[in-house]
Amino acid sequence: MKKYNFNAGPSILPREVIEQTAAACLDFDNSGLSLMEISHRAKNFQPVVDEAEALMKELLDIPEGYKVLFLGGGASLEFCMIPFNFLEKKAAYLNTGVWATKAMKEAKLFGEVVEVASSKDKNFTYIPKDFVIPTDADYFHITSNNTIYGTEIRKDIDSPIPLIADMSSDILSRPVDVSKYAMIYGGAQKNLSMAGVTFVIVKEDALGKVSRQIPTMLDYRTHVKKGSMFNTPPVVPIYSALMNLRYIKAHGGVEAMDKLAQERAKIVYGEIDRNKLFVGTAEEDARSLMNITFVLKPEYQELQDEFMAFATSKGMVGVKGHRDVGGFRASCYNAMSIEGCEALAACMKEFEAQH
Ligand SMILES: *Cc1c(COP(=O)(O)O)cnc(C)c1O
Repeated sequence: MKKYNFNAGPSILPREVIEQTAAACLDFDNSGLSLMEISHRAKNFQPVVDEAEALMKELLDIPEGYKVLFLGGGASLEFCMIPFNFLEKKAAYLNTGVWATKAMKEAKLFGEVVEVASSKDKNFTYIPKDFVIPTDADYFHITSNNTIYGTEIRKDIDSPIPLIADMSSDILSRPVDVSKYAMIYGGAQKNLSMAGVTFVIVKEDALGKVSRQIPTMLDYRTHVKKGSMFNTPPVVPIYSALMNLRYIKAHGGVEAMDKLAQERAKIVYGEIDRNKLFVGTAEEDARSLMNITFVLKPEYQELQDEFMAFATSKGMVGVKGHRDVGGFRASCYNAMSIEGCEALAACMKEFEAQH
C-alpha cells in the first residue's frame, strides 16, 4: 500500500532527493568513496556548499549583504546564539507557541526580554494582531510557522528594529522579502533537508553590535568568515539540502511551492470544514499551510483512536496531533503531493460515512 508521510519533522522529502543522497553515500562524485568518508575540505565538496548557498540566495531572492550559513546544533542552538550575538540590553519576542517560548527562555539569560504579545490565552490558536514593537529593543523575534499549533505568519512583518525569524517549518514554502529581516534561521529537517543541519540567513552588518565576548563557535562572524567551514559541517545533510534546492528550482521555485501549498491546504482544510466529525483548531486567518491541525468535534471525541487506526490502515503516516493540541496534524511540506492530500480527504470522508 502506498504510504503518505504527514510527519511534522523530520518529515517528507522528495523521493529523488533521498535517492540521490543515498547514491552519494555509496559513491560520491564518481570518486569511489562515500560522501560519509570524504573530507569536508575535499576539492569536490566545496562546490556542494557553494552551490547550496547560491541556490538559497537565488530561490529566496536574498539581497546583497546577507550570508547563508549551514551549521550544526539545530534551531534550538540558535535560540541561544541569537541573544549571544544580538542582545545588548533588551529583546522583544512574539509568543506564538512552544518554540517561541523556548527561544525566549534562552534570551532571558542574556538580558531583558519583552513579550510583545502572546496567544497563550487560547492555547496558541491565533496570531496576535495590533501589537507594538518596542523601538528601544535590540531585535524583534518571531516564529513564522508554529509547527505544533498549525498557525502561520504568512506576511512579512514591517519592524522598526532588526527582525529575526525562526522559519524552521515554512522556509522555501513561499516567497519571503528577506530584506525585512536581520536574520532567518531554522532546523533543516522540516522543509529543506534531513536532520543534522541548521540554515542561517544573516545580514552581515547586523552582527558585531554587542559588547560581550562570544565563544568562537557561537559567534556568527566565525562562520561568516569561514564560509560554514570553521569546523566539520554536517556533510551529508548539506548534500541532501543541495539536492532538495535543485529539486525546488527545477519545479518552479518558491512561487510554485507556494501555489502547491495553497492547493494542498484547500483540499485538507476544505474537507475539515465540510466534514461533520472534524473541526480545525487554528483560527481561520491564522491557518498554517504547512501544518494542518484538527480535532474531532466534542460529540465525536470517542472516535479518536478509531480514526487514527483507520487513517493508518489507509496509508496515512504521522497524522497524530502534538500532545499539546491533541487530535490530528497533517503536515504538508513541499514534498507532499496533491494526491496525498486527496487521499487524506477521501479517508476522512469515508470515515464520516461510517459514523
Ligand atoms: C522543529 C522546530 C524547532 C526545533 O528545531 P531543532 O532543529 O530540533 O532544534 C524550532 N522551531 C520550530 C518552529 C520548529 O518547527
